[in-house]
Amino acid sequence: MSLRPVRVDLHLHTVLSPCGDLEMGAPEVVSKALQEGIEVLAVTDHNSCLNYPALSGAAEGTGLTVIPGMEVQTIEDVHVVTLFPDYERAMECQDWVWETLPDVPNREDLFGYQVVIDKENGVLDMVPRLLVQGTERTVDQLIEKVHRLEGLAILAHVDRPSFSYLAVLGFIPDELEADAVEISARATEDQAMAIMGKYPSRTFLKSSDSHRLSEMDAARCSVMALEEPSFEEVKMALLRIGGRKVMAEWR
Ligand SMILES: [Zn+2]
Ligand SMILES: [Zn+2]
Repeated sequence: MSLRPVRVDLHLHTVLSPCGDLEMGAPEVVSKALQEGIEVLAVTDHNSCLNYPALSGAAEGTGLTVIPGMEVQTIEDVHVVTLFPDYERAMECQDWVWETLPDVPNREDLFGYQVVIDKENGVLDMVPRLLVQGTERTVDQLIEKVHRLEGLAILAHVDRPSFSYLAVLGFIPDELEADAVEISARATEDQAMAIMGKYPSRTFLKSSDSHRLSEMDAARCSVMALEEPSFEEVKMALLRIGGRKVMAEWR
């Protein structure tokens, strides 16, 4: 097989994230992804991967590959997108994250609903604990845990003024073992180029961080050179193995 360009969006919220729009249901997200030519989509709700089965179920037979993951908020208030080869390992990481996620109840009137759905948007559960809060895990502990589970850790939206590694900690040290650095689709080209220029050895990518369907857009995510749309191929692209790579990292 040879390498070909594959459109990949590795950061997306569903109805499980209280800030996610209620239109972010499983069939809707899958059909919008297909419409935008996205072939690999990661489901990364705040501190939880519980809607992965719904999304992967809705994607069955469509050709869309769905990757389980979550956007973890560390003790430093840094957001890290974590991705896993399978749901079992994603759940293991969620259990570990929830061990130190404060037991603060969600207030739906303030924060919004946290809905666990099935592939047809049937409501399975409402998560009672507030998901949008920091855990007691550090960025370094999280990356180590993710790597032990053979997953990927991506520093989220580093151009943003809040909850980003750069905003909180100032700069990315060489020894930090993050697999890639995400620049949000909201960054200007100048912002993106300035950040990328400072860290020439890092892999950068653009992800949509969609909270509503209108934010899911072919131009708001990355194209990677892959043999096929799969987690393993995405991992090779971020680690730059076997010719796989993020093509045109930000544009
Ligand atoms: Zn975030
Ligand atoms: Zn996000």
